[in-house]
Parts: sequence; structure tokens; C-alpha cells
Amino acid sequence: MTSDKINQGITITPLFSGSSGNAILVSTANTYVLVDAGMNCKKIVEALNMVRINPFDLTAILITHDHSDHISGLDVFTRKFSIPIYATRPTWKGIHSAEKKPHLPSLDNEIVPEETVTIGDFEVTAFDTPHDTSGSCGYCFSSGSKRAAIATDIGYMTPLIFEHLSGCDGILLEANYDKDMLWNGEYPYYLKKRIDGEYGHLCNDDCARTVAQLCRKGTRHFILGHLSKENNLPQVAERAVLRALEAEDLVRDRDFTLRIANRYTPTEPLFLGDI
Ligand SMILES: [Zn+2]
Ligand SMILES: [Zn+2]
Repeated sequence: MTSDKINQGITITPLFSGSSGNAILVSTANTYVLVDAGMNCKKIVEALNMVRINPFDLTAILITHDHSDHISGLDVFTRKFSIPIYATRPTWKGIHSAEKKPHLPSLDNEIVPEETVTIGDFEVTAFDTPHDTSGSCGYCFSSGSKRAAIATDIGYMTPLIFEHLSGCDGILLEANYDKDMLWNGEYPYYLKKRIDGEYGHLCNDDCARTVAQLCRKGTRHFILGHLSKENNLPQVAERAVLRALEAEDLVRDRDFTLRIANRYTPTEPLFLGDI
């Protein structure tokens, strides 16, 4: 194991995942990027400390969209640590209208979907996602020979998203809800329609189908994220995905690894490397 080899890897460490707040660390040995800051500043700092990252060492924060479970901690965190932020133009509008005090404008960077930007060791490409706010996106990260992607808050799996996920070594993909739990649950009808609609969230079965297709195309490592607290359970999401993979004769820990992102605490880091 040489340090050069370690530098070639990408690590995905979900800090928080779910409608209560999202923040996912994507890193190399030299570059630390936070995808979303949807938990209060104190909790994000605590979670970063738990995975031994100093907040001042973050290279950038990338925002997927302007819903509060993705940006609620951004305002205070940015004023405290002055980390450059990347978001699409419509998302910036939402961020600016949500923040209580303005932060340094020099930290604002606009990211344009399908245009690749260099952030530290990463080549980062944003891609459009269908969700009920404008400018929502997922992110694809390349470093050396490795590729990783984060895709949550997706109404349905579009060909464009699938194209970006294809060939990645590791992916964090939304498994938001179990259809039966949602439709038999307590949510009001309009909310059920919203979640299950084309601009809502990805259900377990659609996630499972996607994971099986991606695994057949070579992706080996999967993290399920953004699980609903009311309409899903980790074991229900896991079972749905395992069923789809096993139907393709794919065997856990031989052909793929699968983990579920914790809601409130950092999840075991997923290292994508040659070692
Ligand atoms: Zn969300
Ligand atoms: Zn959202």
C-alpha cells in the first residue's frame, strides 16, 4: 500500500441522510467536499470531527437544491468557516432568500449542469434531477481512475441520471420510500401524490431496479440514502435492493457491497480505490 495509491481513491462518508437533514462528505487524500449542509452548523461540525475532518479543511460545499433538509446549516456554517460554495443559478436564488445574514459573495460559485469543473483533486459534473424545486441536481466526481456519484431527491430515474451513474465505482442513491408504506400510511393525500410523483422522491423498487442495472454494468458499491422516516425502514429498503440484485444472480460481497446511510450519525466510509 503506497500513499500514491491511497491518493487515487475516492471516499464517500455520509454524515447525515434523510428528510431530517443531509450532508455527505466526498473526499480524496487531499480534497474534502461536502455535498449539502442540511443540518445545523454545530451538528455538521460534530459529525466532521467524528470522521476527523477539520471544517476549515473543506475544499468546497456543493448544494443539490434549496430544500431546507439540504441547506439549513449552510448560512451559519459558511459565515463561520468561509468555504467556497457551488450551486446552480436557481438554487442560489433559494439559498440567498433563505439565509438570515449575507455571507461573503466571493464564496459563491455557479455550477452549470453538464459542465465539468475542477475542485481540488476532483473533476465534478452536476446533472439535472427531476424534483419539485428548480435547479435541483446530483453530482458526479472523478479522481484518477475512480468515479463516484451522489443522487438523491429524484422524482424518477431519468435516462440522463442513469447515464451519469453508469460506470461509477460507487454511488449513493436515494431509496426514499416503500410504496405500500407510503400509500397505507398517515400522510395526507396531496403529500403522498407529491412524494410518489415525477418531481418527488425515488421509491425502493425504482432504486432497486437501477442498482441492479448499474451493477450489471460494472458498479460495485452502493449506499442507499435519504430514506423516509415515516414511509421506509432500512431493512425494507435493503431487502428490495437485495431482491433485485439476487434476481440477477449477483452475490453480496462478491459482486457488490451495499450499505444504508444512517439518518443522524456518520456512516462507515466507503473507500473506492485499487487497494
Ligand atoms: Zn431532501
Ligand atoms: Zn428535496
